Amino acid sequence: MKMSSSAKLPLHFKVLMGLVLGAIVGGICQAANVRNLDFIVDNFAKPMGAIFLNMIFMVVVPLLFAALVLGVSELGDATKIGKVGLRCLMMTILLSGIAVGIGVVAVNIVKPGAGFSTDEVLKLQESIGKKADAAKSVEKSKEAKTAADTIVEMIPKNPLESATKALEGGLLPFMVFALIFGIALSGIPPEKALPVKEFLEGLLAVTLRIIDMGMKLAPYGVFGLVFAISAKLGITAFVALGKYVILVMVCLAFHQFVVYSMALKYIAKRDPRTFFRQIRGVMLTAFATSSSNATLPTALKAAEEEVGLPRNVSNFVLTVGATANQNGTALFEGITILFLAQLFHVDLSIGQQFMVMGLAILAGVGTAGVPGGAWPMIAIILVKIDVPAEAIGICLGVDRILDMSRTVLNVTGDITIAACVAQMEPKAATPQVAAG
Ligand code: ASP
Repeated sequence: MKMSSSAKLPLHFKVLMGLVLGAIVGGICQAANVRNLDFIVDNFAKPMGAIFLNMIFMVVVPLLFAALVLGVSELGDATKIGKVGLRCLMMTILLSGIAVGIGVVAVNIVKPGAGFSTDEVLKLQESIGKKADAAKSVEKSKEAKTAADTIVEMIPKNPLESATKALEGGLLPFMVFALIFGIALSGIPPEKALPVKEFLEGLLAVTLRIIDMGMKLAPYGVFGLVFAISAKLGITAFVALGKYVILVMVCLAFHQFVVYSMALKYIAKRDPRTFFRQIRGVMLTAFATSSSNATLPTALKAAEEEVGLPRNVSNFVLTVGATANQNGTALFEGITILFLAQLFHVDLSIGQQFMVMGLAILAGVGTAGVPGGAWPMIAIILVKIDVPAEAIGICLGVDRILDMSRTVLNVTGDITIAACVAQMEPKAATPQVAAG
């Protein structure tokens, strides 16, 4: 057996170790009142975290643009394919909307991020070196804008200017630009669209590669970020994190076993238990890889051979769904954003919560189906509601298990939609394998 170097440990394990060690070492230093702790936090821990996060932030704009344009243009193509595409689009919006709704209601009831005193919030802000501007957020929410102003502001005059402000809250107009671009792309002759799509696919691949490179720093970055929090606040800060993890898991399970079961029973007219048994291999692959894209081949095979869906429907819905339908991710993003807002005492009005819901649904389309694909989108929405993007460092250490679980939902959602759409298509829908 070769030497057991730490390089052999899986990355997610190292990230978790970074979290645990950061919390313990920081907590011990705080309890022992170590001298020069502030100096250590400011000059070592925070920069370690910041370098890692900047590697992710630097690709947020191109990544979102490429993923969203490609996702939307695929959905745009979908409407051209006719009823199948339209029904697929409706089901995607319906299921993503329900998913985000579940997350938002649950996080408002359980409030996993509430309970920190003002003093603790100040320390938390110090530990990440950024302030959540709660006052600004409240003020903004009170600013009375006419509906016409709001709509006009969402259409960017200069998309490049919006892009430069994306990390300071200028996200929405930029995303609207990407949406319009995607719709237009699906409306031009294929020979003209092809080079643009190929370029965007290349751009997406490059940005994902940079994220991969950045993720190599994750164990150290997460250690630094968590050490800084724990050194300021002590280890009790992590109780909220535990509550958040449990809440995400419970909501994911609810959506998977209650919402999907109902869609299967009442729309797809299938027995949910049989269906879940038929796709268990797909769910396991999604859980193991944390990637909808990597699970696509297994999903295509199971949809046809195990579930008995007509190939024309399943190929189309699953391929589009791998990038454009991510219910688990949408649910997770809704909870995470509101959890971090609670943690930083940023009170969101109902209107702002609806905005977060809308963005989370859109995020389901704009998220790449790769491990950790949700985070760039979360960072950008956080800034929009005046919570520092650096706050994501708090959740990153526990992300792997949540990522594995939400990816299961993402792919189950795709096959569920395929089954529903197949059922609505009288001719194409005749199942080739008995469902029950
Ligand atoms: N890992 C997810 C997927 O591939 C994306 C995410 O939520 O990070 O479906």
